[in-house]
Amino acid sequence: MADWPYNTATWKRLRLAHLALFPMCEGCEAMGRMTMANTVDHRVSINAGGDPFPSHDGLASYCPGCHSAKTARGIEAGAVRTKKPRRGCNPDGSPIDSAHPWNGGDGLLSAAAIERRMPSDLRPARIPLTIVCGAPGSGKSTYVREHARSRDIVICLDTIMQQISGLPEHMAPPHLLASGLERRNAMLRALADDDEHAAAWFIVSAPKACDRRSWTARLGGRLIVMETPLAECVRRIRADAGRQLRVTQMVAAAVEWWAANPNLVRRKSLGAEGGGPISSLSLELVSSGNGSKPPFSGRG
Ligand SMILES: [Zn+2]
Repeated sequence: MADWPYNTATWKRLRLAHLALFPMCEGCEAMGRMTMANTVDHRVSINAGGDPFPSHDGLASYCPGCHSAKTARGIEAGAVRTKKPRRGCNPDGSPIDSAHPWNGGDGLLSAAAIERRMPSDLRPARIPLTIVCGAPGSGKSTYVREHARSRDIVICLDTIMQQISGLPEHMAPPHLLASGLERRNAMLRALADDDEHAAAWFIVSAPKACDRRSWTARLGGRLIVMETPLAECVRRIRADAGRQLRVTQMVAAAVEWWAANPNLVRRKSLGAEGGGPISSLSLELVSSGNGSKPPFSGRG
């Protein structure tokens, strides 16, 4: 492929502007999935006489997977409609596939990896527990900081990863994730017999409503879901200097969190164009003892 026009400052500016305006992959969106795009493509190729520097409606945003599928076989052929594991790496070198061992997974999430993410042997906390869920950038830590008191314990994987890696927040290499999860799980297990702290706060992203229900079924306590809209999450991730090197991954995780919560999306809408106060939260009511029996019932 010729380097021109991709090596020009004009193209580089146009590409960044387009990704800022249209951050989601079109191919994934067509399949009902939300993925961060990092490639900008001409709708009409330059070889076919297209403008090398078209306006934004002459450009399309794609993720690496969709872009290579489109380039290889043409998007019209349905080439992007695949559920195969993603190949390739993020700009920081970590694999795109979240189930990749580098990202703490065991390939196609093994039983051990699933168990590590949410242990089945947890028992209800002995002290008042608040489980705070939400996308990256939704303000979970801030919320806990503002509400926790000095005798409370805060359980947060990000903090644990900082401790075991000795690196700033969100900078721990992903292969430490498994040991971070082990330590977090040990802290969660200890809540059942805790007579040291006044209350406990558990910060977990938990994009899926069923996971949030499982956490409360196992640990008891109340559940708070931060409903900060995606656009605001992305804005905060980008503004947070401590997250600079992980921005792509964090934004992708925020996108995935919101993609897993279509009901919340409908209520809050994706954009933040209205401005206004963005942080809000909801209590998800967790019924104990309805028809479907939780695998590990909280209280008898
Ligand atoms: Zn895609």
